[in-house]
Amino acid sequence: MRDPGGGATHPWRELGPGIRVRQSAAFSMNSTVLSSPEHTVIVDPGVLPSELDDLAEAVRRVETNAVTLLLTHAHWDHVLGRAWWPRASVLAHDRFAAAVRAHAGHILEKARARARLHGETWERDFTPYRPDQAVSGLHFAKLGPWRLVLRDAPGHDDSQLTIHLPEQRLLIAADMLSDREVPILDRPCAVYRHTLEELLPLALHGAIETLIPGHGTVARGRAEAVARLTRDIGYLDRLAAAAHEAVRDGSPVEALEERLGTMDDRLRAMDETVREAHRDNIALEYRAAALAAAPGS
Ligand SMILES: [Zn+2]
Repeated sequence: MRDPGGGATHPWRELGPGIRVRQSAAFSMNSTVLSSPEHTVIVDPGVLPSELDDLAEAVRRVETNAVTLLLTHAHWDHVLGRAWWPRASVLAHDRFAAAVRAHAGHILEKARARARLHGETWERDFTPYRPDQAVSGLHFAKLGPWRLVLRDAPGHDDSQLTIHLPEQRLLIAADMLSDREVPILDRPCAVYRHTLEELLPLALHGAIETLIPGHGTVARGRAEAVARLTRDIGYLDRLAAAAHEAVRDGSPVEALEERLGTMDDRLRAMDETVREAHRDNIALEYRAAALAAAPGS
């Protein structure tokens, strides 16, 4: 695949007419572009300045009437790039603005540190911004030729949305359904599970033929989409069951950590930050189980 920017960044991959995805050199984060002369939608623009420059150049070449930035959630690696498209319309969750405002310093710090790690310099500031269109629940959007179904997707982050394109049978899954990460929780397992349960019928009925996770490899085909969903639901179920059992038996969280240390074979191949997230998941679910088991709860 040709690299539209001609730079040293990762190549673009064509997933269908007007649909391209590129993996960042940072955390294999996926940026998706839905381009058309009428309206171009950029989902999670990227992490490194060179990648954002490259993407801006690629979008400029399409000569589009309108550009929308769609941010899947407010975590730092997904919200960068606003300064590259100052006139674009922004679409995100209605919890997005508050989260970005609260973490602006952290976002800038992370962007600078990550750029440095890749031999680049983050020269711009990071100014918190608000979506022009803030949505939640189940929301339908038509941006030029692109029909999008946006769904609340709590469990990893309260400001998270998934983006489904029924006509293209494409799901942009935000920070979920990765081949290189286990689910990373900010709520007890049941919340994340509910989010995945709502997506499972879509996959089972053939409405997801392509699945773009926040990080990692794009899944192609119905079977692969179903497999991603059932695998993560299985992870959540095993974690929840083991945590509840540990609380019932009065065994400490350390014993649970020991028992679940390698419960998912993705963990072996993953870097330390994912294994750390897995340990945090265990602690979070253990606390939730203890709270649920407490008298009077
Ligand atoms: Zn995230």
